[in-house]
Amino acid sequence: YFHVKVIPVELKSGDKIFVILFHDVTKERKLDEMRREFIATVSHELRTPLTSIHGYAETLLEDDLEDKELVKRFLKIIEEESARMTRLINDLLDLEKMEESEVNFEMKDVDLCEVIEYVYKIIQPIAEENEVDLVVECEDVVVRGNKERLIQMLLNLVDNAVKYTSLKEKGEKKVWVRAYDTPDWVVLEVEDTGPGIPKEAQSRIFEKFYRVDKARSRKMGGTGLGLTIVKTIVDKHGGRIEVESEINQGTVMRVFLPKRG
Ligand code: ADP
Repeated sequence: YFHVKVIPVELKSGDKIFVILFHDVTKERKLDEMRREFIATVSHELRTPLTSIHGYAETLLEDDLEDKELVKRFLKIIEEESARMTRLINDLLDLEKMEESEVNFEMKDVDLCEVIEYVYKIIQPIAEENEVDLVVECEDVVVRGNKERLIQMLLNLVDNAVKYTSLKEKGEKKVWVRAYDTPDWVVLEVEDTGPGIPKEAQSRIFEKFYRVDKARSRKMGGTGLGLTIVKTIVDKHGGRIEVESEINQGTVMRVFLPKRG
């Protein structure tokens, strides 16, 4: 896209010429388009829970509901949906903070076993409740990183693994969290025996709001931002993330972090 300007100029000689200026605004146009698309998506993501909250509140107000259980069920949905909206806004603000900041995270030596231990304590009760077997295996590995952000990253990965694996009707429900050293990288991986991710979706799951199954993600309270946050944290650490997944077999999320130099 170009902005075109025509400027008449009179030369010293008395000749009149026109100068035509082409200003390439492709980049600005693209940014503008992306911003508009982002606002549309976020509005949609916020409107979905709001519509449901509004609908259930209206029903509760209008109908004289005798059935206490039904009233409770509707209130529960209102509670869950508003909690999801809060999570969504928090995740968005957090992403914005990470993407915007010129300053990088404060980096220190972090023992990955401590990160794993912390995450295990939080997720283990949830895993147990959902009959998912959670196993951690940790070699003594230290990376240069931000402990809080590494915890946040691993929490998102393990939470997904447990959440999606718990949906399985039959078969083994198991999640492994591992940290180990290789000659070039330190690896942190989360493996599950869950539903897997279709090949064509594997490169898209890190995009904001991308879900393989929208209804399923919503039912599980997801915001569609978890893996975007994971990828952003991995990038900020100079690492990369890899997905290995087979439908109905399971998923491995493998994070490669640079070795301390
Ligand atoms: P959500 O809040 O929907 O979980 P995420 O960004 O964390 O959002 O993940 C994006 C999508 O990737 C999910 O909706 C789901 O379809 C898929 N996904 C992520 N982790 C797993 C997993 N361990 N097993 C199967 N699908 C997964």
